[in-house]
Amino acid sequence: MSNKRNSEYNLPLSATSAILDKVGKGATQTVITAIDKTGIRYYVGDSVLTEESIQKMKELGLLVQIGFIGILSCPSCGDHVLAVLPVCPRCNSNDVDIAELVAHIKCGYIGFLREFTRNGELVCPGCGKKIENSDTELKVYGRVFMCQNCGAKFETPSLKLRCLNCGLVFTLKEAKIKRVPQYAIETSALEKAKLIFVRDYVKNMIVNIADKYGIDVEFDVDLKGMSGVVHKIPVLLKRGSKEVIVYYILNERDATLFTSLLLDLPEPREMIVICDDNAVKELGMSCSTLAAGKSTITVVPADLSNLEANLEDAIRRVFKL
Ligand SMILES: [Zn+2]
Ligand SMILES: [Zn+2]
Ligand SMILES: [Zn+2]
Repeated sequence: MSNKRNSEYNLPLSATSAILDKVGKGATQTVITAIDKTGIRYYVGDSVLTEESIQKMKELGLLVQIGFIGILSCPSCGDHVLAVLPVCPRCNSNDVDIAELVAHIKCGYIGFLREFTRNGELVCPGCGKKIENSDTELKVYGRVFMCQNCGAKFETPSLKLRCLNCGLVFTLKEAKIKRVPQYAIETSALEKAKLIFVRDYVKNMIVNIADKYGIDVEFDVDLKGMSGVVHKIPVLLKRGSKEVIVYYILNERDATLFTSLLLDLPEPREMIVICDDNAVKELGMSCSTLAAGKSTITVVPADLSNLEANLEDAIRRVFKL
């Protein structure tokens, strides 16, 4: 029987439970893909899905892959943070600028905007008149790329990419493509998934609460009944000489096991039962009627959104803290 403390009991799935909880409350059900210089992350609302969460949610059928997006990446180091360099298609120089083609409306002269600049003022090279308001006196025809090395003008430059991680400069032809999976949440699997996650979620919460109040926690404790049958107690809380059993009833099987435990207890016990009323419906009763008996039972509804507060409340009441 191990006495696991917080540091040893690491539950990475609790983040997923929290996310599921948010989704259940009607938050956005689209998984957002965020690509930035540090990597690729997935968000549900403002919560990040860890690799582990994604894996688990996929296994549960809760996360479905809806396709891929491709991202150009470095052929050497694989990084996707790239600078895009314009290159002259004629001489291959990287010294490419943008030139704006404008017309002086009054005289009809057409030229590049830079030709109009003289001593910090705008003067038309055609008629020699000063331009007071470029917005009304000049008409922009468009812009072209212009090689500062050979003078070539072109509509679209060739492109090279510089990897900002390793410095490699490469062409589009040499680039690699990173295929990034896209996900959506399958809300029909939500209820089932919540029940699976709630056990991990609850264990994590109990460890945190117990730590706060100096309560020892044991998981999966064997308890021998009057009949000699050994029952599994999911969580046992201990403080001084006081022991409290924590039990979850999240499905019909839990309800059956709990009923047999109650009937087989050698002596009345203090218990906190996290109970989902739907789970005991098949037995034709509610959580509170199921719990009625000799033992002292505090029922905490298995509602993920208020679970931590309700659980802490119940633990404090039972231990009189
Ligand atoms: Zn690189
Ligand atoms: Zn050139
Ligand atoms: Zn002019």
